[in-house]
Amino acid sequence: GVAGAAVAGALALFHAELVDVDVARADGSWWRYRGDAAGGLVDREVAEPGPAEPEEHELVRPLAVGDLPVGRLRVRFPRSAPPVGRDRDAVAAFGDALAAALHDAATHRELRQVTARSSYEAVHDPLTGLANRAALLSRGDQTLRQLAHDHPVALLLLDIDQFKEVNDTLGHVAGDQLLRLTANRLGALARPGDLLGRLGGDEFALLLTSVPVVGDRNAPMAYALRQAREIAERLAAPTEIAGVRMSVEVSVGVVVADAGAADLTELLRRADIAMYQAKEGGGNVAGYDSTRDAASTDQLALLAELREALEVDDQLVLALQPAVDLATGAPTGVEALIRWRHPRRGWLSPVEFIRPVENSEQLGTFTRYVLNKALAVAADWAREGLDVPISVNLSARSLLDPRLPGEIAEALRRHQVPAHRLVLEITETVVMSELEVIDEVLATLRSMGVQLAVDDFGTGFSSLTFLTRIAVDELKVDRSFVIRMADSPEAAAIVRTTVGLAHELGLRVVAEGVETAEQRLALAELGCTAAQGYHFFKPMPADKIGAVLGTLLDEARP
Ligand code: C2E
Ligand code: CA
Ligand code: CA
Repeated sequence: GVAGAAVAGALALFHAELVDVDVARADGSWWRYRGDAAGGLVDREVAEPGPAEPEEHELVRPLAVGDLPVGRLRVRFPRSAPPVGRDRDAVAAFGDALAAALHDAATHRELRQVTARSSYEAVHDPLTGLANRAALLSRGDQTLRQLAHDHPVALLLLDIDQFKEVNDTLGHVAGDQLLRLTANRLGALARPGDLLGRLGGDEFALLLTSVPVVGDRNAPMAYALRQAREIAERLAAPTEIAGVRMSVEVSVGVVVADAGAADLTELLRRADIAMYQAKEGGGNVAGYDSTRDAASTDQLALLAELREALEVDDQLVLALQPAVDLATGAPTGVEALIRWRHPRRGWLSPVEFIRPVENSEQLGTFTRYVLNKALAVAADWAREGLDVPISVNLSARSLLDPRLPGEIAEALRRHQVPAHRLVLEITETVVMSELEVIDEVLATLRSMGVQLAVDDFGTGFSSLTFLTRIAVDELKVDRSFVIRMADSPEAAAIVRTTVGLAHELGLRVVAEGVETAEQRLALAELGCTAAQGYHFFKPMPADKIGAVLGTLLDEARP
């Protein structure tokens, strides 16, 4: 625009025959705007600006702002009226003004681009191009306000199962690919009027505005659950990522509300609770259930209360569950399982508070607390001459703390428990990431003589790889295989293979969650040597364990 106007202006001002404005562009190319006395204007790319030296009846003026060249101006006067000194000054002044104008225009254009880009980035997730959390919240609330007060809406919160494992084992590029693929599939499934966004990490949210208004009170939830299941099913269509065939499994939390009765932040909070219920329940999809919301109340309050609980002695208590040798009945170990005797909420099981603890800065204190209690109990029964190891569950994140081995060594000394009587149960998931610290921590623990067990063996993404990386002493076959063993040949095969593998590597195998005599028998037939579960003992209070171990050892003696 500026160049075009300059050409027209110069033609008129100087009664010129021809005017060229050559503009230097940001990418190094040149663009020529040429006008002639007949009023024509053409513009095209040129290899370089016109010659610096003017023809006899021409004036040429370099266009620059300071040292910065922005172009070149050429004015061809008619042969009959060649330029004179006055014209020279006028073209120089015109050229300087033009240079400044061109520079301004370029700057504005860049500015416009930058603003456009940054406002795009402010509301979009750069990886998937979907709305980001902030945009989802603000547009979502706007959408809710535009709908009739009692119009039902549903929010689906989707979380990719095992995303972390994909990232850790196949790399971030593959992880990104998986996220983009999920975003694309979701985009194709959303309907006009729905709002789709990526909340961050592997979480996506979809606000459904087209929930039918007909039906009874439960109809919207039934509809939303159906939608959620269908979406989960479509997302699970097999795909190939980084050469690995996989299917994207998601857990979906679903919440419905009247448009006028909720804001998006609250809907997200509820959908989040439902999503965890979906994950814990083992199904893909769960609807928000307000009665369970009270139980999973505000995690912040819980953490504040935990801080108090860690300072007293009688709130966080250990339940102890022996594992027994399937042939002799002798105790092979005792697992310490934490319980919270909450002054107001009653007994809380670890699933109700471990997750927030793991994500808080209180994890270190909590881990030390549990170890301390467990070693105190083990020291008690050792004093009675019982040689049985104690197993303590370690949150995977504790292994990221290089101080852990030192703390454990100190606790073992304080309770005078030999290191080999302590078994640390770890799950393999986190062990695949942040390799160095974890390898170091585990190697130090092993060199101290502490035993390691792989918990929930077979449920992770990389159980076998794990074994090649870290030397362990024990594998715990996950309860899910024990349950399905009887009617699933696959589950039985996994148990049999795990037993064989452990045998070959010289490791102990403990089957978890054995509830029936049939399971016990089947395990023995598959070659499993030790088991733990309600069939033998439920977790019991610390003051009972000594006597039970004594009896078991006596009975097992030939
Ligand atoms: P886990 O390590 O797999 O522990 C076994 C869980 O199965 C325990 O649940 C136990 O009570 C339960 N169980 C044992 N036998 C049977 C059975 O025959 N049938 C059934 N249905 N369940 C059985 P619990 O105590 O609720 O613990 C749940 C999880 O919480 C544990 O799973 C463990 O991962 C975690 N946890 C427990 N104590 C601690 C702790 O001190 N620190 C950490 N970081 N995690 C802990
Ligand atoms: Ca365990
Ligand atoms: Ca387990």
